[in-house]
Amino acid sequence: MPLVSLRQVLDEAAKGGYGVGAFNVNNMEQIQAIMEAARETKSPVIIQASRGARSYSQDRFLYHLMLAATELYPEIPTVLHLDHGNSPETCQSAIDMGFTSVMMDGSLLPDGKTPSSFEYNVEATRKVVEAAHAKGVTVEGEIGCLGGIEDGHGSGGSGLEHLTDPDQAVEFVKATGLDALAIAIGTSHGAYKFSSKPTGETLKMERLIEIHKRLPGVHLVMHGSSSVPQDLQDIINKYGGKLKPTWGVPVEEIQLGIKNGVRKINVDTDSRLAITGAIRKVFFEKPEEFDPRSYLKPAREAMKKVVALRMTQFGQAGHASDYQPLSLKTMADTYAAQPVAV
Ligand SMILES: [Zn+2]
Repeated sequence: MPLVSLRQVLDEAAKGGYGVGAFNVNNMEQIQAIMEAARETKSPVIIQASRGARSYSQDRFLYHLMLAATELYPEIPTVLHLDHGNSPETCQSAIDMGFTSVMMDGSLLPDGKTPSSFEYNVEATRKVVEAAHAKGVTVEGEIGCLGGIEDGHGSGGSGLEHLTDPDQAVEFVKATGLDALAIAIGTSHGAYKFSSKPTGETLKMERLIEIHKRLPGVHLVMHGSSSVPQDLQDIINKYGGKLKPTWGVPVEEIQLGIKNGVRKINVDTDSRLAITGAIRKVFFEKPEEFDPRSYLKPAREAMKKVVALRMTQFGQAGHASDYQPLSLKTMADTYAAQPVAV
């Protein structure tokens, strides 16, 4: 089946009351790991590429790898999503290439680090919504700023400086007509999220619940939601790595989010940790090896394992064949029949 829209996958997730992991990729092995995990758990999948990933992979390579994924795994509804588009132009280039979903992160200016004004965010996001919906492509926006920095994108800080204001969230959704909304509830990008195990207090779950109550029909997105498991940290450090002690977002908090409108959960660090740990282990135990396959195969397997676990924990497992994918043309017609209410 062709790549499907994020909107359909999230609408189905809302009906089924589950969440869908959005896993970042830069190369072939990561795409293979996710597709294998999806097949094993019978999950719909969201694969996402950041601007950094697009430049690393010369994005046409990435796009064609994704087409290969849809050919080889025809039973899996697969979304190709742009993570943190920094401007309408970046989003347009992804739409032109064939991405079925884009994030316009107008919470920051195009430099990817300076918090923007509400007005700028509305204008940039709305512009992308108009262009994307005309092609049946989904749009994720963001209100409030996440902490940390990923691929040079992010406001830095702890993630608590610019939490999403529920009133603004309502106004933002109305003014832009977007499909999915990333909210800031204290999460941040990268491996170093928290210096002790976070609780419902650290993560401002109350705020998430309030936003969901105010916007029950909007798909919420949790960014920076790797759990940074201790066992993956341990493997890296056991084989010569030097990670400092760190905590991620506990899976139970994500599951509480899913009960309250969270439909897309962004995970990148966990995959990175799994890959790096597996490679370090081979390098440490078999220093005589020099065939890249000797370490890339275990790396791919380690990532597949953590991704399959998350798919099960988020509830998407078993839902791959619940529905027939709608074409982007059908999605475009649906949007055209429901013009943005302002
Ligand atoms: Zn993010």
